[in-house]
Amino acid sequence: MDFQLPDNVEEFRSEIKEFIDAEWPESLRNKSQTEISYEEERTFCKKLAKKGWLVMSLPEEYGGKRRSILEQYIFQETMAYYGAPYGTTATTIVAPTLMRYGTDEQKSTFIPRIAAGEIDFALGYSEPNAGTDLASLQLRAELDGDEYVLNGTKMFTSLAHKADYCWLAARTDTDAPKHKGISLFIVDMKAPGITTRPLWTMGGGRTNQTFWDNVRVPVSQRIGEENQGWYYVATALDFERIGVFPVSRVRRQFDRLVEYVRTADFGGYRPAQDPDVRRRIADLSTDLEVAQMLSYRAAWMVSQGQVPNYEAAMVKIFGTELQQRLTHTATQVLELYGQLLEGSPHAPANGYFEQAYEAAVMPTFGAGSNEILRQIIAARGMGLPRG
Ligand SMILES: Cc1cc2nc3c(=O)[nH]c(=O)nc-3n(C[C@H](O)[C@H](O)[C@H](O)COP(=O)(O)OP(=O)(O)OC[C@H]3O[C@@H](n4cnc5c(N)ncnc54)[C@H](O)[C@@H]3O)c2cc1C
Repeated sequence: MDFQLPDNVEEFRSEIKEFIDAEWPESLRNKSQTEISYEEERTFCKKLAKKGWLVMSLPEEYGGKRRSILEQYIFQETMAYYGAPYGTTATTIVAPTLMRYGTDEQKSTFIPRIAAGEIDFALGYSEPNAGTDLASLQLRAELDGDEYVLNGTKMFTSLAHKADYCWLAARTDTDAPKHKGISLFIVDMKAPGITTRPLWTMGGGRTNQTFWDNVRVPVSQRIGEENQGWYYVATALDFERIGVFPVSRVRRQFDRLVEYVRTADFGGYRPAQDPDVRRRIADLSTDLEVAQMLSYRAAWMVSQGQVPNYEAAMVKIFGTELQQRLTHTATQVLELYGQLLEGSPHAPANGYFEQAYEAAVMPTFGAGSNEILRQIIAARGMGLPRG
């Protein structure tokens, strides 16, 4: 089999690596996602913006570079390996959706500022009673003159306490079937009536519950047609598909584990010589190759104009569960020391694997839970009746 990438893609990979070496120091590469501060991420995104890489597939007039799908894939893969930020709600969901469904005014108001890394968006989809079953969302948007009035509650509105805007899904028709009464809005987070309450996750990261009390948003900030929001939300998922789970992030963790095991010595006990540890490392390296191939296949399909809906689900399930197996193995190989937090003088690799273990939970249900994705594989991939 020949998996060689075109020359221009390989050249681009080298350019990205040079950029990372110059702009993303070693001290940040080994931090978990939750340890990288919002300010560090914003500063770095401004540098990506200068290269035209934040929205690289878009045309130049909007701040992009018209890069191909494969180039975009290699970009995400390389950045994820080094733990560098490469996409936000604004770049992966808002900009591509606006390009397709936004008015000219919405495009020219928001996309260049997103491309320049000037503005950021929170994602307002989930609610207390609408997570997996997102179409049941209840936050109400009622038309009043040339504004909508928003009332309700959102759960897990990550970044709501920092972002400039919220990409918000709200119910505009309570009588229509649930998928047909939803609209999408861009709401200024400084608008009166929005209250943000922190929710802390086990990995130490912050997300939020947000309360929307008579918040007014101009009709001009509704995206596309009224009550068509569900369709736009589903289409936006297409844009996320190739980046839905970067396998290279697990490869980095694996490489660090192997590096650690190679030299570790606990008072004469050397994990590198333990048959059980060697077997686990061998199993993980095999699984990693499988995950990589699944990921390349999904990226290739997108580059050929195909929609890898069940194939992308396979990448996400296999990759996220491999990440859990890997971090679980790492904490076992490091024995009780593996539970020590960053900062403890006895924490192996300065707590890197402990952080990675905690951070490995969220990807199994974020952006579509693995249970639901298994149903997609069974129904769309294997032709079984819908469950
Ligand atoms: C740290 C964090 C950050 C987040 N950030 C955001 C954000 O920025 N914006 C946003 O909108 N949302 C965000 N989310 C929400 C996330 O998308 C939801 O957690 C996810 O959609 C699951 O919804 P839920 O938590 O309500 O779980 P539920 O929908 O209650 O599901 C609970 C469990 O039941 C399973 N399940 C549910 N229905 C079925 C079924 N029909 N068949 C089989 N199994 C089923 C699920 O797979 C899951 O394992 C975030 C969540 C977390 C934890």
